[in-house]
Amino acid sequence: MTTRTRDERFMRHALDEARTAAHKGEVPVGAIVVVDDEVVGVGHNRPVTSSDPTAHAEVEALRAAASHVGNYRLTSAELFVTVEPCLMCVGAAVHARVKRLVFGAREPKAGAARSTMRAFEHPALNHRVDVVEGVLEEDARALMQVFFRTRRGESDDAGDSPRGISPSRNSS
Ligand SMILES: [Zn+2]
Repeated sequence: MTTRTRDERFMRHALDEARTAAHKGEVPVGAIVVVDDEVVGVGHNRPVTSSDPTAHAEVEALRAAASHVGNYRLTSAELFVTVEPCLMCVGAAVHARVKRLVFGAREPKAGAARSTMRAFEHPALNHRVDVVEGVLEEDARALMQVFFRTRRGESDDAGDSPRGISPSRNSS
């Protein structure tokens, strides 16, 4: 199996988590943590339903994985997330010492791995994470666009201008 095929297989699992978030009315972002080809933690975005501003998919998945493994360091872990992580989640991935982060679509407003900054590359960080982007990007973006279009459509019909992923995933 090529790396890309493998990445897509795990990203499909993260996309399932994103759909779970959408069903709950949360911005559809999903994440999973993989250690030695085994899924050890899953999470989806749920800050609104849990009244928790830190309940992003990546944090949820990292918490589940660390609990499962019994170690707050996840040094051989890979984090798969459907949408580019924000600054908090970049920080969480660094704290967890994950080896690799794979994301789908960029997030122009809050993404901190590529879009608004390249936080993983900050020289003050003493841990390097390999970052791969664009895996099943169209699927992740489509979920976001449908979610925001539906939400806007409830108060505002035709005439939406296409403008990529927006607004910030933390807005309610
Ligand atoms: Zn985040």
